[in-house]
Amino acid sequence: MRKAILHPFPGGIHPHDEKGLTASLPIEDAPIPPRVFIPLSQHIGAPAEPIVKPGDHVRTGDKIAEARGFVSANIHASVSGIVRAIQPYPHASGRLAPAIEIETSDEDQTFVPTKDRKDALALPSQALIPFIREAGIVGMGGATFPTHVKLSPPEDKPIHSLIINGVECEPYLTADHRLMLERTSEVIEGITYIRYILDASFSYVAIEANKPDAIKRMKELISDPDIHVITLPKRYPQGAEKQLIKTILGEEVPAGGGLPMDVGAVVQNVGTTFAIYEAIRWGKPLIERITTVTGHGVALPKNLRVRIGTPVSDIIAYCGGWREPPGKLILGGPMMGINQYDDRVPITKGTSGILLMPRGEVGDYHPHTCVRCGRCVTVCPMGLLPNFLGVFSEHGRFTDAERLHLLDCIECGSCTYICPAKRPLVQMIRYAKGEVLRRRKKVANK
Ligand code: SF4
Ligand code: SF4
Repeated sequence: MRKAILHPFPGGIHPHDEKGLTASLPIEDAPIPPRVFIPLSQHIGAPAEPIVKPGDHVRTGDKIAEARGFVSANIHASVSGIVRAIQPYPHASGRLAPAIEIETSDEDQTFVPTKDRKDALALPSQALIPFIREAGIVGMGGATFPTHVKLSPPEDKPIHSLIINGVECEPYLTADHRLMLERTSEVIEGITYIRYILDASFSYVAIEANKPDAIKRMKELISDPDIHVITLPKRYPQGAEKQLIKTILGEEVPAGGGLPMDVGAVVQNVGTTFAIYEAIRWGKPLIERITTVTGHGVALPKNLRVRIGTPVSDIIAYCGGWREPPGKLILGGPMMGINQYDDRVPITKGTSGILLMPRGEVGDYHPHTCVRCGRCVTVCPMGLLPNFLGVFSEHGRFTDAERLHLLDCIECGSCTYICPAKRPLVQMIRYAKGEVLRRRKKVANK
């Protein structure tokens, strides 16, 4: 057993975590909605291609759209019912995006497994990957990268270390925390499958110190001496892949587009690990996920198991609605989540939380010019210069921003959080990144 020595990453912040709103609340099943709107693009890569048409009857778990290419993901019906339309619908990205609308029927909505692969570890390791691909699993911590791709590193990139990410450093969110507490054995079985696929010698379950009950439970139930539970000090963004690898393995993922596999590591979120367990053991596709509904704006905060495609408005209504005049509705957490302008947007595979902030908490928003305090530089976990990146973005100087390693920004939002001038640094950086990537694509297509 290789003993982990912690190597703290530079920068970082200590926001109020506000997890007390939901940390002690057991996971509940959200009601089955009358209609779901399942986007064809819920992942990084090509949108899936529909294989159903309006009028078709589908059952919970049926495949309704097929992955287009290797970097894509299958989509499944999250309810039984009739396909009513395939058309653009509000999407978490803020745009309209094609979605399959299913009107729920009166029949039983439970997914009934037809398999029990209790001997999955007797199969060749690579035979498990198609089960994950077929189930349409993507990174559920928010990255939404197709998992079968992540678990298929090229031969010249052997993986020695698997890190299971139970850090959940985003304030407010407790979905992964509850999953580790309530479905511990299943998460551990998922870890066993991933280790087997990757042939990784070392496995770590990383959990922040603010979840002592989950740490205790994991330690109690893990019997394999080669799976090590690591307690990490609480610091945002401890759960970001590169920061996690740095802290646990002491390795730096190369700048300029490097990947964890370049340093022999794979990081998998706890929710994804649970989904992998369900896919391999029971053949269950990714049709639901745990989402934390939280914030001081919601009447009844909850940790919910929600069917993919459920409109956020249905979930808010189930949680008693807004308790104060609405301020901000965010999908995800306050640091990396995305503000929403339409509460009809559906839950997708990457929706880790629904955060409702009342108007009084959001306050007036008046950004000022930079006062050159340097705080954003101090907290940036990637060692970047967010102050300059923000100014270059404002003035359309994208090439200058690129020279300052714009694309290495992990969009953690620490710079925006700390800025006394309330400058929307991460938003400006995100915009500049989009412009740089758009221009690169244009050049490549010429
Ligand atoms: S959002 Fe980007 S620039 Fe800002 S602190 Fe995080 S990594 Fe650094
Ligand atoms: S934290 Fe804000 S005010 Fe301070 S240097 Fe950075 S951008 Fe300027």
